[in-house]
Amino acid sequence: MESNKRLKAMVCTAPFTLEWQPLSLPPLGPRDVLLHVAQTGICPSDVRVYVGKSSIKLPKILGHEAVAQVAAVGSEVASVKPGQWVVPDGIIKCGTCPACRKGRPNKCQRVRYASGAYGEATIVPETNVYPMRETTLLRAATFTEPLACVLRGERMLRITPGETVLVIGCGPIGLLHIQVAKRFGARVLAADLKRERLDKALSLGADVALDPQQPLHEAVRAETDGYGADAAVVAFGSSRLVEAAATALGYGGRLNIFAGVYPQDPVSIDPNLIHYNELVITGSADHTPIDYAEALNLIERGLVQVLPLVSDVVPLRELQRGFEIVQAQQGLKVIVEVNPELAR
Ligand SMILES: [Zn+2]
Ligand SMILES: [Zn+2]
Repeated sequence: MESNKRLKAMVCTAPFTLEWQPLSLPPLGPRDVLLHVAQTGICPSDVRVYVGKSSIKLPKILGHEAVAQVAAVGSEVASVKPGQWVVPDGIIKCGTCPACRKGRPNKCQRVRYASGAYGEATIVPETNVYPMRETTLLRAATFTEPLACVLRGERMLRITPGETVLVIGCGPIGLLHIQVAKRFGARVLAADLKRERLDKALSLGADVALDPQQPLHEAVRAETDGYGADAAVVAFGSSRLVEAAATALGYGGRLNIFAGVYPQDPVSIDPNLIHYNELVITGSADHTPIDYAEALNLIERGLVQVLPLVSDVVPLRELQRGFEIVQAQQGLKVIVEVNPELAR
């Protein structure tokens, strides 16, 4: 691609409104990297903004699950060169706020966001690009961001080999949880209402697909000699599922509330269940740079399968159709071809 002036982006200007507009980026700072975006995965959080169920201010260029090629680098950038393929992290942490200092940069209190990856280009600091290996497929690398979030959530469960982990919700995120839990040595029970999602879960390593007709805690007890699961992930935004997961846990069970719940809907869990059963209830959101690097490594070494999660590929100009597929839960992961000329 040639000059910056010709770059464009799909801008979310109001709920249910996407406009194809010229893209203007700030000047490149000495430590910044200009990236030409090739492909971007659609995250349900993008769709939440699009349908007006988010506090994020519009207009905005969304998209944060990108793979890109370095187009230009600032004068002080030493680690990447133009032409190199990278996975960008568009969340720019300050490094100095209390959250950053406490080792929670994912909760940075002075966070900035790079121009979104439903634009043909973006700028991020050098520290926010993760160079890819020569052999990594571009499409596979778009899963770095969601897998980084999943790794963070799985670590909170402190899984030890042989434990039984319940994964509720077998969409793209649940299917990543299943694979990471297997890597930690767990036996995985998969729960979803859709048969085709359960089949996909089994094909990606889940040990048991629970019968959606049976109450969850009964199905889990039947698979664990009456004990209950050692850990559970709720990868679908539902307070009822959080409650069901808590009752499906055994003594010392850990629960990760991985998905946000919209609209707000409080959970009701008997405190005696938490107290007497010594349950640990956690949440996780976003990712740290360590999660990001580890996620890309898992993808590049083929330790987590991501390509079977792709159900649809749409060109950037048809972003709305991609959002509708995700919203309707028709497929699994939808990938946006931001610039089909960028390939290797
Ligand atoms: Zn995402
Ligand atoms: Zn910070």
